[in-house]
Amino acid sequence: MSKILKMLCICTLSLFVLGYVTNLLCIKALHYLHHQTDVKLKTVDTEFVQPSENFALRILLYNLPLVSANEKEYVKIAESVNSASLIETRLVLQRAFTSTEAIGYFILMALALTLLSKWRRKSSKRDEDLGMIEQQAINLINSISPSSRDKECKGDPQKRIAALLERAKASLADSKQKNACLAFQDKLTLLIDRHAYLQHIEKKLKTAAQTNERCGLLFIDLDGFKQVNDAFGHSFGDTILIQVAHRLKDIVKHYQLEDIEPTLNLERNLSRLGGDEFSLFIPHLKHPNVCNDIAQAVLNEIERDFHLGNKLIKIGASIGIAIYPESAARPNALLQMADVAMYRAKSDGRGIFRVYSPEMGNKMRRYHYLLEELRTAISENNFHLSFQPIVHVEDCAIDYFEALVRWHHPVEGMIAPDEFIPIAEETNLILELGDWILTTACRQMYSWYKAGMKQVRISVNVSGVQLKHRDVHQWVKATLQSTQLPAQSLMLEITESTLITASNKIIKQLEECRKMGVTIAIDDFGTGFSSLSTLADLPIDVLKIDKHFINQAKCNTKYQQILRSISELGNQLSLRVIAEGVEELEQFELVKSMGIRCVQGYLVSKPQSSQSVGNKVLKTGMNQMAATGTGVWLPDDKRYDPPAH
Ligand code: C2E
Ligand code: CA
Ligand code: CA
Repeated sequence: MSKILKMLCICTLSLFVLGYVTNLLCIKALHYLHHQTDVKLKTVDTEFVQPSENFALRILLYNLPLVSANEKEYVKIAESVNSASLIETRLVLQRAFTSTEAIGYFILMALALTLLSKWRRKSSKRDEDLGMIEQQAINLINSISPSSRDKECKGDPQKRIAALLERAKASLADSKQKNACLAFQDKLTLLIDRHAYLQHIEKKLKTAAQTNERCGLLFIDLDGFKQVNDAFGHSFGDTILIQVAHRLKDIVKHYQLEDIEPTLNLERNLSRLGGDEFSLFIPHLKHPNVCNDIAQAVLNEIERDFHLGNKLIKIGASIGIAIYPESAARPNALLQMADVAMYRAKSDGRGIFRVYSPEMGNKMRRYHYLLEELRTAISENNFHLSFQPIVHVEDCAIDYFEALVRWHHPVEGMIAPDEFIPIAEETNLILELGDWILTTACRQMYSWYKAGMKQVRISVNVSGVQLKHRDVHQWVKATLQSTQLPAQSLMLEITESTLITASNKIIKQLEECRKMGVTIAIDDFGTGFSSLSTLADLPIDVLKIDKHFINQAKCNTKYQQILRSISELGNQLSLRVIAEGVEELEQFELVKSMGIRCVQGYLVSKPQSSQSVGNKVLKTGMNQMAATGTGVWLPDDKRYDPPAH
């Protein structure tokens, strides 16, 4: 019942009681007055007596004979044929309300009303409390399950609250189940996480051991995802990951690999391990080739264009495969071996899959071993530099020395830079090592410069990681200042693959270096597939043809043609062309005949210690050096016919 209706009822009831009590009091008063001798009754001719038209009095004294005469209100006491005995209503009312009963009645009524209003207040407080409880119940439901927000409960507050609590109970049970899911789920893709996945594999491997079956595990790592994240932002990257998860689910369905957890409704054979890594488990493997088919299907799916808004994104994946029980017997080890195989897929060119073999594991162990040793070697400064001369083909005059880093390991002996430089690059240790290399090379060159090698340069290899993390212009400038080496005596070698992918910022910094007088060389040219037009735009002075071309040119005329065109191209672009890896006199003659002006290679000299360089150049050709600012480095080959001076 609404509040207004209740109030109306109470008012009506109160009025009714008041009317009834007044009536009783008036009858009693009438009685009293009638028998009172000092109260005069008025006798009026009946023709002057009219029924009363006073509405209020008629209601208040509803069962008394009310009349009016001479414009006054009376109560009729008796009536004869011609006259009526009347008593003034005012007197009746006066007596009625001043009698002791009236006072008693009114005290009683006041008491009743006070009690009533107290009860009312109490009940409205209860309603208020119930309203609050109801609101709290609604809030509770909304917080547990926001989707049920709009459902409306009917009935009185108690019923509504009971219904709401019932709903809260249901929502709680529902959200309990959802939470149980979330505890094992990756929040972004809603695939199961690494922990739940490993637990699942544990069970599966136990069964496989009993039934003597094989299982397969794919370790999927996206290629190019970091670039997408960097270029378009993380929320964009997240959307890609969700789409990848959908595509992988489709593959699971397609190959009937589904294994749904019944209560939580989660696929257990597919997981996001973290970042851009996913894994797929293949139970009951009839033949290991099935893994290869599925891996290829995954590669195809991920290489398909991703459409995000009006953008079209292309990424890829590298996959490592591990087979139970050949690769490993425990879930963690199986995942680790697949990871090792995935790394191999990455280093073999990306966008492919590789099946784990023990030899890969050895490589991984070696990698981690060398990484630790490298850290120690850097902190203990266990490196030195070797110097290899690059000479002019005409007279073997030294053009420059390439500084090559050497690591003499206390147990392993010499470790080749081809093995440790990539590790240093992947872990950014090259930054610290590279600082030491540049400073040491410049310092060494400064002492040769002072000794007379004014026209000779020192060339330092700079990796892409260094260019990315250092402001190369500031870095070189500061090192030149601290070592006092003139900028003209320094050359930087940057591989073709690094240069063609370098940002505009890096290219600008290299331009600044050139303006200072530093020479820039493009190293290992021919391995990075740069187009000829990009070459013209790069800030370079020297082009070093990769040794692979020189190696092949002797027996392969196609390579000879390539060498010739590179030489012509270099000359047209006013670049100094250098042939790397010249080991034989025939190669020397060949590159010379092609117009290549400088050579580097074992024919002329292997990389030498600084003392050997000092002995050979400074002690044997001081006069020549004083005149030309450089020395001569003749090949050891007896057949080499030095030009007559
Ligand atoms: P790279 O820059 O192409 O260096 C030339 C490599 O070819 C050197 O190997 C050198 O010893 C070798 N070489 C020179 N002449 C011949 C030859 O006639 N025949 C053959 N087969 N090889 C020849 P090294 O010193 O083992 O360096 C290998 C690679 O390691 C270098 O290739 C370079 O990429 C990297 N590296 C070496 N030192 C440094 C360094 O100080 N910093 C950086 N970032 N990388 C370095
Ligand atoms: Ca080099
Ligand atoms: Ca090279």
